Parts: sequence; structure tokens; C-alpha cells
Amino acid sequence: MVDVQNVTKSYGAVRALSDVSFSIEAGTIVGLLGPNGAGKSTLMKILTGYLQPDGGSVGIEGFDVLTHRQQAQERIGYLPENAPLYPELTVQEYLMMMADVRRVPRDRQASALTDAVRATGLGPMLTRPIGQLSKGYRQRVGIAQAILHRPKLLILDEPTVGLDPTQLLEIRQLVRDLAKTSTVLFSSHILPEVEALCDRAVMIMGGVIRADAQLSELAKSGSARLVLDAAVDDASVADALRALPGAREVVSERPRPDRAAFVVRSDDDVDLCPAIFDLAKRSDWPLRELRSETRTLESVFNDLARDAAPAPSAA
Ligand code: ATP
Repeated sequence: MVDVQNVTKSYGAVRALSDVSFSIEAGTIVGLLGPNGAGKSTLMKILTGYLQPDGGSVGIEGFDVLTHRQQAQERIGYLPENAPLYPELTVQEYLMMMADVRRVPRDRQASALTDAVRATGLGPMLTRPIGQLSKGYRQRVGIAQAILHRPKLLILDEPTVGLDPTQLLEIRQLVRDLAKTSTVLFSSHILPEVEALCDRAVMIMGGVIRADAQLSELAKSGSARLVLDAAVDDASVADALRALPGAREVVSERPRPDRAAFVVRSDDDVDLCPAIFDLAKRSDWPLRELRSETRTLESVFNDLARDAAPAPSAA
């Protein structure tokens, strides 16, 4: 459905995207996750043909956004970060106008509008000026204009930003409902949101894709945390743990002077705790704690953010 290859984009001296590549299968909900300034909006504008990349290509159902922009855009419904809504127009007037903009044929505009209004629950607001609507309803109007032409791909830039908790849940449910018939790519800097909605999370930081995780896989890949008395030799314990079948990575730390801690990551569904317990017994390690930890999106994100943070400079 979406094929992004080696996309780069700079604004003057600011490099917003560096060699970004990924693809999206039809029928999935993908969350584009990243902190402010990560490059999410820039990427979405390029995907939707509103901004030209400096290099690379974007294909939407096989149509190159640069060379076949109209065909690509016909397949995309786009909610920009600050959707330009006209406050003085009523919801109905605005959606009729947008049906023209989206090139919905005149004889199909009424049914397109009825469907978009039904999907977004805007029925009671049709005759209200947009400027008088709550932020949640304005966001629904933005989504309604994006689905008028029945796109196969929905690109939503921070669709829940600025909403109160009730509106947020409503818009999330709306996105879930829309995902039953469209592929959805939405951006967010809110981890629980991506966890609540997505099949897959693509994490972008500093214009670079740093992780790409199926959430179902993430839940499976776990780690074990082992805490021993400080009397052990950290390097030899880490080596022994690393040699366990299924162990991918071992990180050791000293959380306090009298304790040595080790986090043992496994690649797949392997629970390493029983093997670590056996090893600790055989090796006579002074065991203090052993528990398994499920990897969450938050832990992946925090690991990446820590890796990406500049090292503290020496005084
Ligand atoms: P946010 O969540 O804050 O909207 P974002 O992840 O969407 O952030 P972008 O808006 O794509 O990030 O911005 C990526 C980088 O490019 C940032 O450093 C930003 O300051 C810069 N940038 C974005 N638009 C422009 C512009 N028109 N001119 C100059 N720099 C820009």
C-alpha cells in the first residue's frame, strides 16, 4: 500500500529526514511515533504529495507521488496537523466544498457526505458553524473531509492532540472504526496512544527511523532481571548469562553499591528465568532477585531516547 524509499528532506541547514525507508501493508494501523521535531509531519506531507523530498521516492498502491501525484492523492485521505477549517462555514457547507476539492463527482457528493457524516458522528452538528464546535468535533470535521472520497489510505497527523480525555477516547474509537475499511498511518508523540491503537509502531527520531516493531512481537520479546550481591565478578556473570541458549544481550549495572544487576534480553518468546535460576544455583551466585520483564513500547522508546541523547560532556 505504501512504499517509502530513501527519502531525505532538509529545510535549509535543518535536516528533517535522513534516508527514510519503510513500507506498509494494506489493512494495518501503523503509528508513527516520535518526539516533537522528529520529522513526523514532514514525512506525512511528503507521503501525501504536499511537500517534495530532496531525494528518494514514495509509492502509494504503485503510484509514485512525484510523477503520478493525482492518482496517489486520490487514494489518500489526509488530516494535516493544523487542518485548515473555515470557522464561518457550517459543517455541511464545508464538507460540500471539500467534496469538490476532493473531486467527488457531483452525483455522488450527497451520498459521500452522508457516509462521512455517519462515520464521524457529525449528524447533530451539520448546521453549526465550525467555529462554534468543540475541539473534538472540529477534529471530526477534519477527519470527515479526509474520508469523503473513500480513500484506501488514511494519513492522520496527530489526530488527538489537544483533546480532553473523553474526546480522545472518542477519536481513538473513530480511528479504530475507520481502520476496518482503510489502511491507517497516524502520528503521535503519545506512547499509550500508539499502544492502544496500532498493529505496528514506527519510531522516528532526529529524522531517522530508529525502530519498527509489530506490537504483538514486542509483547513476546522479553527480558529477565537478575540481582545478585555485589561480591560477584560482573564480567564473568555477564559472560555466563550471555552463553545461555536464547540470550541475545546482557547489560550489567550497579543500582547500589551492595548489588549487581543484570538484564538479559531474549529475542523471542523464550522465558529465560528458569535457566538463569539453574545457572545461579549451579554457580552458587548470591541471588537477591530474579524476575521477567515484558518489553513495552515505552521501554523500547526510552532505550532509544537514551541511546540518542548526547553523552554528558566532561567538565
Ligand atoms: P511536531 O510533533 O512538533 O510537529 P514533527 O515530528 O512533526 O514535530 P517536523 O514538523 O516534521 O517534526 O519537523 C522536523 C524538523 O524540521 C524540526 O527540526 C523542525 O523545526 C524543522 N522544520 C519543519 N518545518 C520547517 C520549515 N517549514 N522550515 C524550517 N524548518 C522546519
